[in-house]
Amino acid sequence: MSDVGPTSDLRRTTLRCPFDNSYARLPDRFYARRDPTPVAEPRLVRLNVALAERLGLDPAALASPEGIAILAGNRVPEGAAPLALAYAGHQFGHFSPQLGDGRAILLGEIVAPDGARFDIQLKGSGPTPFSRNGDGRAALGPVLREYLISEAMAAFGIPTTRSLAAVTTGETVRRETRLPGAVLTRIATSHIRVGTFQYFAARGDTEAVRVLADHAIARHYPDAAAATQPYRTLLDGVVARQADLVARWLLVGFIHGVMNTDNTAVSGETIDYGPCAFMDAYDPATVFSSIDDYSRYAYGNQPGIAHWNLVRLAEALLPLLGADEASALAAAEAALGAFGPRFEAAWIGGLRHKIGLANEREGDGALVQGLLEAMKANGADFTLTFRRLCEAAAGSAGDAGVRALFADGTAYDSWAAGWRHRLQDEPAEPAVRAAAMRAVNPAVIPRNHRVEAALAAAVEHQDFGPFDALLDAVSRPFEDRPGLERYTEPPGPEERVCQTFCGT
Ligand code: AMP
Ligand code: MG
Repeated sequence: MSDVGPTSDLRRTTLRCPFDNSYARLPDRFYARRDPTPVAEPRLVRLNVALAERLGLDPAALASPEGIAILAGNRVPEGAAPLALAYAGHQFGHFSPQLGDGRAILLGEIVAPDGARFDIQLKGSGPTPFSRNGDGRAALGPVLREYLISEAMAAFGIPTTRSLAAVTTGETVRRETRLPGAVLTRIATSHIRVGTFQYFAARGDTEAVRVLADHAIARHYPDAAAATQPYRTLLDGVVARQADLVARWLLVGFIHGVMNTDNTAVSGETIDYGPCAFMDAYDPATVFSSIDDYSRYAYGNQPGIAHWNLVRLAEALLPLLGADEASALAAAEAALGAFGPRFEAAWIGGLRHKIGLANEREGDGALVQGLLEAMKANGADFTLTFRRLCEAAAGSAGDAGVRALFADGTAYDSWAAGWRHRLQDEPAEPAVRAAAMRAVNPAVIPRNHRVEAALAAAVEHQDFGPFDALLDAVSRPFEDRPGLERYTEPPGPEERVCQTFCGT
């Protein structure tokens, strides 16, 4: 689909962005050309200066009136080729052949000083041909939530889209009530989704599937281009990155909340932060999303769902995977079969590091499972248990802190006895081991009660202080910083958040 929106030359500006828009050079049916819709009164809430510098953009220029106008969609920078991407997707298991960017516009791709290519996308920038009944806008709360959580994930070292800026629009959006509107500037290595492949596969457009696969290979899996079976190698690559990604999520207690195939990036980055949340007390059945009635996307279901989404990708790629149906199916099955072992290795390996085991020994899997079972049975806080284990690893004086997190402290005692026995097999000095553990077990996560409080202050009182403070806390999650203890503590009974909302 191609649709040329109203582009006035007056709205083009001169702020220097090194655009090179490879997606805009793909065939017309991959997108609809459309400029952002201007807003009444843009105001910068937050600019990610470090990210701007990493991208080779001038933070001062971005924070100038001209820059803010760009971040709000009121001006289009020179060299941009604004468009809304076409995609499809399985949402909660049901296929929608046409979704697409209904409230987002890709301004274009910039090439950073180190040669890395990034999409710059405005989210909440007005209607597109894919908006269906939506208004194309975003409310301030969800914009700030995505900003906070994506930046926290980046600080954990987990592949993710980033947030360059948030601006308020001076307009309201109608949801259940009228809410302040906002635009998020999102940075991603691309916005190619499993659902993008499904869009063309559902139309029987094998040529487009091939063009998209070649594009994805060039951007994300360049080694596949020279492989004997480039498309099989592409699928292998996506399977591996998704397996690693979901393991990383589980290792910090992250629940994406809307793992639809349109929210699954082929790059292996976490994308589309909606009703996402971090778990406090460990329980694999944890769900926060108000729209996830059947707990499809519960914490512990995420590996299985990632695999399910990859099966959908394999189906879309099938015509490219073999000379005939039988060989294509065999290739798809072999590629998908790698997911389970890859995920297990990343998950168990990550847990081993979380409990201070650098070497691999038989029985390590059972040891970490034993800890998780004791945590679940005793309502232990996921993040604090592992963080306090760092102290316990330095010496048994640290045991009391961990023990206190378990309803029945003896459950910890009996697990810790086995753990200490196993630690004797590790060469590192206790202090060195504790330091290594602190580098993988965050002290600070964006806890739901803190996130909700920060969003409420911003939305209800235009007070961005709590948002700024929380963002600062989650930006250095592995440090114990005096004065930030309130961000490390789980919610009290009256503070507990039971549901999170998409807010679209
Ligand atoms: P998401 O919940 O972000 O994964 O979005 C699912 C689909 O709904 C995507 O195609 C979005 O572009 C579209 N969508 C969500 N919110 C809006 C909105 N306010 N206006 C138009 N389209 C929307
Ligand atoms: Mg989405």
